[in-house]
Amino acid sequence: MRSIKSLTLDELAGQFTALGEPSYRARQVIEWLYLKRIGRFDEMTNLPAGLREKLRAEFDERPLEVVRKTGSGDTTQKFLFRLRDGQMVETVLIPASPSLYGETSDRRTICISSQVGCAYGCRFCASGLDGWKRNLDAGEIVDQLLRVEGESGERVNNIVFMGMGEPLANYENLMRAIGIINAPWGTNIGARHITVSTSGLVPRIRELADQPLQIRLAISLHGATDEVRDRIMPVNKKYPLAELLDACAYFRGRRKQKLTFEFILIQGVNDSLDQAAELARITKKLDAKVNVIPYNTVEGLEWTRPSERAQDSFMDVLRHGGAVATLRREKGHDIAAACGQLRLQTEREKPIADDSKLNY
Ligand code: SAH
Ligand code: SF4
Repeated sequence: MRSIKSLTLDELAGQFTALGEPSYRARQVIEWLYLKRIGRFDEMTNLPAGLREKLRAEFDERPLEVVRKTGSGDTTQKFLFRLRDGQMVETVLIPASPSLYGETSDRRTICISSQVGCAYGCRFCASGLDGWKRNLDAGEIVDQLLRVEGESGERVNNIVFMGMGEPLANYENLMRAIGIINAPWGTNIGARHITVSTSGLVPRIRELADQPLQIRLAISLHGATDEVRDRIMPVNKKYPLAELLDACAYFRGRRKQKLTFEFILIQGVNDSLDQAAELARITKKLDAKVNVIPYNTVEGLEWTRPSERAQDSFMDVLRHGGAVATLRREKGHDIAAACGQLRLQTEREKPIADDSKLNY
């Protein structure tokens, strides 16, 4: 059964007509969902009982179920959600911080997952460790935002697709969800406040560049040469650096906003000063900016983060090379640094169904 939150206003109106209902009812349902934030048909009190029954038969109204919640107040909060088929994804809420995506300090950023697991198997990432399970549908993507807002009492004004999964490998559902998130009748968050992060799916980057919404793009670069990138990101064999950077230039040509490169620093792998110099060259050429993120240890993986001195030297070379670069060092404030890890941890210590583990 299709999730009600996967549909646009127009689609819902069409479905209502097909069900023999007036189309203004669609707007009423949408108002309940996105304005009043009521998801259960039974609580939509201005709908006739017969219609509510029809809706229940036609659409899935169940919200994502909170399995775990960590952090609170002005710290990073993480949510582990159980989906209808029992799979789990995580979503992270990052409170206002001047150094994160965007220039102002009142950003409340949510980091959203797009898939269960990930097929791309980057060597440093918890999300890909157990492979790919399935794509999220648009409703499951949208509901992460609604549930996190409901649970935290915060209004989110910035969205990054840096949670579990490769968003551009789930392109259709991603764009459908973004359409709903962006719509004035939906959650009404501007496209410029939505960032999609990709490991580098070249054809999809071009497709994203050609669609009209001014969505921002972040590229998980993590290596400034093919040699280094090949070692840690299998996707680089399919779309090598030259092709990726061409696609980035194409994207840049169609946008006012700068691209962001994400660069995790892993000791002895990509933290050499040569890499820093090459990264600076690439960044300058594309008029991009760089976010350098010291590697976050993942259980079961061999890598470590470089010392703070080594991080500083890397940043010095990067900046001397003319790159606009930030180092995200604050603990708990790295947007995605630990995405995928809560799920992994939870899956490995099953069963966790007992309620005593809720909200710990
Ligand atoms: N698949 C997309 C989006 C999800 S990954 C992509 O790869 O861009 C989002 C970010 O989390 C990426 O920049 C990724 O490199 C980062 N990340 C993953 N594992 C990490 C780790 N162990 N430490 C720090 N950052 C990590
Ligand atoms: Fe997948 Fe991104 Fe993790 Fe790579 S970094 S395995 S693409 S989620």
